[in-house]
Amino acid sequence: MKAFVPRIPETGADFEWKLAGARLRELFVERADIVGFADTEINLRADRVGRLVNLRGEAKVPLTFTCARCGDDFDGEMRVPIRMAMSPRRETAADLEEDLGAGFYDNDQIFLDDVVLEQIALAAPTVFYCRPDCRGVCLVCRKNLNDGPCSCGS
Ligand SMILES: [Zn+2]
Ligand SMILES: [Zn+2]
Repeated sequence: MKAFVPRIPETGADFEWKLAGARLRELFVERADIVGFADTEINLRADRVGRLVNLRGEAKVPLTFTCARCGDDFDGEMRVPIRMAMSPRRETAADLEEDLGAGFYDNDQIFLDDVVLEQIALAAPTVFYCRPDCRGVCLVCRKNLNDGPCSCGS
């Protein structure tokens, strides 16, 4: 999905589209604990003031992950808020470079896929748990302790 800045009305524009699971897979290629992705639904509102474009919305990322404690696979969803202020790239914009909420576009075009993928990459937790109080597995007998205590007495 691409937004051509001069065509965004001052009253704003809505963008709704899907990113294929394969794009997400590529983005998280180094994450062994993410087993699979389904298509991500994205809703974005673009408001334009002059050449500044404010993007806000949400990406819903359905995924299958491996719990870091018990090692089982679970289906889940990451909901990633998108908040970005996009301005035309200038040579001397170093002061804005540090700001995670600010981005730049070239040639009047905003590549919305790239903006969203970057936000998803930043928002992804470093570990996934099936639930906050996952009990994990017994280190001796490997039983999943979410299913009840084990009998090896550890
Ligand atoms: Zn777990
Ligand atoms: Zn045990």
